Amino acid sequence: TSFIGMGLNVDLVANVKNKLGIEKPTNVQKKAIPFLLSSIQNNNDTNNKDVDIVLQAETGSGKTLAYLLPIVHRLICVTNDLQNTDQKTRSPLSRSVGTLAIILTPTRELAKQIFSVLEILVNIPPSRLSDRHLAHWIVPGSITGGEKKQSEKARLRKGINILVCTPGRLLDHLSNTKSFIVEHLHWLILDEADRLLELGFEETLQNILKILDDRTETGNNLKSNLFTSPMWPKKRQTILCSATLKDDVKRLVGYSLSNPLYVSG
Ligand code: AMP
Repeated sequence: TSFIGMGLNVDLVANVKNKLGIEKPTNVQKKAIPFLLSSIQNNNDTNNKDVDIVLQAETGSGKTLAYLLPIVHRLICVTNDLQNTDQKTRSPLSRSVGTLAIILTPTRELAKQIFSVLEILVNIPPSRLSDRHLAHWIVPGSITGGEKKQSEKARLRKGINILVCTPGRLLDHLSNTKSFIVEHLHWLILDEADRLLELGFEETLQNILKILDDRTETGNNLKSNLFTSPMWPKKRQTILCSATLKDDVKRLVGYSLSNPLYVSG
């Protein structure tokens, strides 16, 4: 199987090849990417719903691209879909819809690494458009407490579509930053969940989950026309990555994911 054979956007695949030098999917990518794309393929089903996923994979297996590629691909799809139905929608996604994906990582260093890959991936215009207004149509961002809180707040206020962050700072902003829009959140990724727990973030994670559950709107309550697209699934999808599945990770899976599918690398 190739990245193209999985159905990933050709511009995105070209970007991965040209800028990251990556041509063939790893095992974990071969297994996970088709699942993470599958609710698009079933979009005739009115109850289309994304299944939660536990990705058991070591660092070095290619797990980061396994979840990033489907997310970026799907944002390309909804944007193209929108453009076909509403020619006036030319502003970047970010301001109106806020944060669509949150990637939680145990350390600032890991967040930086993921963010740098993400910046490369999103640096393409939607495939059917050459409109220069859309040059920065998906906005990635990283919030890790490495800068003044005020400047993080300002970036959140402008809108970050795909946010890579560490738990403490995320909880802080979810609790205190009023214009941080998470009502449209669709993906939550708990990366290196075993390390998140080792570093003592369990309670912080629980508090984050509670706020997100309270604030995320579903289905027809969504205000933006982005979400009337049949490409847009109805429920938040949680993806948990972990090298090991010890008891504490299983417990976290139990309360943060619903009826997950297990994929191992
Ligand atoms: P990860 O498991 O996500 O930490 O990725 C580890 C390393 O593998 C990163 O440096 C990636 O750039 C690289 N990588 C990811 N996918 C592939 C692939 N399909 N082929 C070769 N290298 C890859």
